[in-house]
Amino acid sequence: MKNQSIKRKIIILYTGCISVILLVVLIGMIFYIKNVETNAAEEELQGKVNAFYGKIKIKGDEYTIPDEIEFYNDGVIISVYGEDGTPVTGSIPSQFPIQTELKDDVYQEIETEDHSWLLYDKAYDYGNGKVLWIRAVSNVYGFERIAGRATAAVGVSFVVMILLIAGVGYHMLSIALNPVDTICREAGAISKGEDLSRRLTVPKARDEMYRLTVEFNQMFDRLEESFEAEKQFSSDVSHELRTPLAVIRSQCEYLLEECRTEEEAKEIQVIMNQADKMIQLITQLLTISRCERGGEYFQMQEFDFGFMVNMVADTLEETAEQKQIRIITEVEEGLILCGEETLLMRMMMNLVENAIYYGRNGGFIKIRIWKEDQIIRGSVKDDGVGISKENLNKIWQRFYREDKSRSNTTNGTGLGLSMVKWIVQLHRGKIEVFSEKGVGSEFIFYIPIS
Ligand code: ADP
Repeated sequence: MKNQSIKRKIIILYTGCISVILLVVLIGMIFYIKNVETNAAEEELQGKVNAFYGKIKIKGDEYTIPDEIEFYNDGVIISVYGEDGTPVTGSIPSQFPIQTELKDDVYQEIETEDHSWLLYDKAYDYGNGKVLWIRAVSNVYGFERIAGRATAAVGVSFVVMILLIAGVGYHMLSIALNPVDTICREAGAISKGEDLSRRLTVPKARDEMYRLTVEFNQMFDRLEESFEAEKQFSSDVSHELRTPLAVIRSQCEYLLEECRTEEEAKEIQVIMNQADKMIQLITQLLTISRCERGGEYFQMQEFDFGFMVNMVADTLEETAEQKQIRIITEVEEGLILCGEETLLMRMMMNLVENAIYYGRNGGFIKIRIWKEDQIIRGSVKDDGVGISKENLNKIWQRFYREDKSRSNTTNGTGLGLSMVKWIVQLHRGKIEVFSEKGVGSEFIFYIPIS
């Protein structure tokens, strides 16, 4: 029940409640009808017994039963018994258990194999303490059969009613909750497409859905504002830091030329390395923030994507050799793509550099590029350390690094993959990662040709 949709939950609860209420009402009705029928049958038996006794002639302490008296009247059979319970006259229905005890002014229901009997006995004192018993018996089979049929009919109508109530309820709920589906779909499209400038369609009717949509849109406004502010901030900070860093670096170069001892040179080199690292970081941040602002900052041109990939592989071959990693390329020829060449080169560099850095000594890197349905597809695969399942989604976040302890020992900034993602998205493409800890990783991307 917990994970069911609201629609299902409401339908289950509402149909359940109505079923219980309906069941109670229908059972109540059956009991009421049965009660009324039984009372009527009992009254009839009592009336017949009294009427029968009224026809008996009493003289002193003797009685005479007239010949014309009827022992069978309208489904009721009358029999007369003496004081000791011995039958005197009258009829007894076949299959009726004759030994049934006489009980004064009491209704009894007797069940035999095939029948159900209702009987009423009355002891009359007809003079000098002498007693005459009169018994009226009726076969309640007819009534039981009617009651049985009524119960079956009620059962069938109960099922039909419940199905009808559930069906109509589901239909009405679907209409009422349709706007919620629309809101979910549109909000999902906004968050998946990561286009925060889009808004939900506001319904015309000013009901709860209208308020919900307006609230959502206001939330998107605030989110967009804060994202914009964050982008602006990182872009401004990067710009502001670029010039002083360039000055630090050129001053270091100058000092390096001027220094006299090896010790001094080493110290200056440390400062220069750190400045280089910061320049790299700032360049990456600026690239990301330009990508986020869209294509107008870049010059999209046609170029040979395969040729560029081969160039990246050649450039990084030497670095790979330091770890005895073999770079294997399978690149289709003549893959012309319209895009920003320097950015796509940066993307390939980042992927292959990562594959080397996180690759296994003596392992391999396989780069495959091919075309399918006007889409360039690429794969960079290594047999290195791999990424654990729970971190697979996080690697695209800025400054995320799986092994925090390596942060200070490598040239990495934790920005490489977020930049890769932005570059792919800028080219209306997609990138995915498949990885297993200790086995290796594969990054697969898709970029439309134009
Ligand atoms: P950096 O490499 O500078 O740490 P990235 O953004 O390029 O930053 O990568 C983020 C994290 O993703 C890395 O710290 C690493 O944990 C993981 N990663 C990226 N590429 C690979 C790879 N080929 N194999 C294993 N882990 C990888």
